Amino acid sequence: MSSPPHVEVVAYALGLLDPEDHEAFELHLVECADCQEELRELADVPALLDEVRSRRPRG
Ligand SMILES: [Zn+2]
Repeated sequence: MSSPPHVEVVAYALGLLDPEDHEAFELHLVECADCQEELRELADVPALLDEVRSRRPRG
């Protein structure tokens, strides 16, 4: 059994998927409430990282 598409949510959110995998995941996403929910939560992550980075002094 190959890995379920669910595990690709993080890679998808970070833009790490190959174009083929990206497309395949989007097809899965429209039918998967779990992944939609997961993606909604992950969508905040880059913004959070930016915020943390901007508050933390460089060094
Ligand atoms: Zn899913």
